[in-house]
Amino acid sequence: MGNDLSIYLHIPFCRSKCPYCNFYSLESPVNPKLWDNYKAAVLRQLGTLISRFRLAHRTVTSLYIGGGTPSVVGAELLRSLIEGIDRYLGLDMVEEVTIELNPADVRPNLLRQYRDFGVTRVSLGVQSFNEKKLTLLGRRHNAREALASINICRDVFGDNISIDLIFGLPGEDLSIWKTDLDVALSLKVNHISLYSLSIEEGTPFYQKYRGFENDWTSAQMYVLADRLLSSVGIRWYEISNFSLPGRESYHNLRYWLGGDFIGLGPSAWSYVDGVRFSVRPDLNAFLKFKMEYEKDILPASRRLKEEKVLQLRTRYGIDKECIPDGWVDRIMDFVKMRWIEEIDNKYVLTLQGRLFADEIATNLIY
Ligand code: SF4
Repeated sequence: MGNDLSIYLHIPFCRSKCPYCNFYSLESPVNPKLWDNYKAAVLRQLGTLISRFRLAHRTVTSLYIGGGTPSVVGAELLRSLIEGIDRYLGLDMVEEVTIELNPADVRPNLLRQYRDFGVTRVSLGVQSFNEKKLTLLGRRHNAREALASINICRDVFGDNISIDLIFGLPGEDLSIWKTDLDVALSLKVNHISLYSLSIEEGTPFYQKYRGFENDWTSAQMYVLADRLLSSVGIRWYEISNFSLPGRESYHNLRYWLGGDFIGLGPSAWSYVDGVRFSVRPDLNAFLKFKMEYEKDILPASRRLKEEKVLQLRTRYGIDKECIPDGWVDRIMDFVKMRWIEEIDNKYVLTLQGRLFADEIATNLIY
């Protein structure tokens, strides 16, 4: 992993803003002029990072194009930016190129264009197959389009498809959630990311559902999902991510297993040589090349703890022999509580522990 580098490219545009979302993205059409400016700013940022962190000789092994909604940008415009990145860092050794897609944008021709410029995998923001859930979430697609988009993606990308599903919505019960999971399984999708709705400050959902409590229902929904998915061999490999063996996202695993990555675009986080940083989420400033960085330089002990806590989020757990100083008693307490178990000389979260992963992380880091 030493010389490897991953790239996350943030596309901060959406056709409409979903009322629950607090990712940094703007509701804006993308015209060629805006895109030219954005491309120039991203490449300027990349050039700065390459010289600041001496990245020129790193091997880029994965690229993730996320957002926002990358599929609102025309394929040719996107291609021109990827080619620009290739000129700076060389993408010929990349093992996985993922692009996030909104099901409402999925067209065979668009997907073929993505494939032709190197995309190998798609991540579809399906969220649900239930019409009421999709309406509540303010999504641009309906249930029929969600289904159709998966089939279109399969025609072009074969099995290299992931879908996102969201659970724990106001009014959602276990049977609604089970139907979503049953539909996903009937489509033989082999990678699924599951997210519990969280009501984030500053969103329209916060105004409407502030104080909404879904912890207990969401825990039951997560347990149900784990049971149904694992019964067909789709197992967890990170708390929110499930796949058939061998179909894990290489790029995402690098985040959790401590690999270096750079995030391009406003709000995208990077982690290189123990320094974690992002450009302030302000598109206008970014377009004017005024890139203010938020930065954390982690001392070695804190860096080790954070890396181990991230690894603990995965099914690979942490080596018993490599745990940071001062963790033994705390881990033993979690073992007694059955939140962590010992498997093959590693400490791994139990199903119950996955439900309390944030509490465990806070306890171990501080
Ligand atoms: S499409 Fe995705 S990034 Fe855009 S507003 Fe909706 S959830 Fe957020």
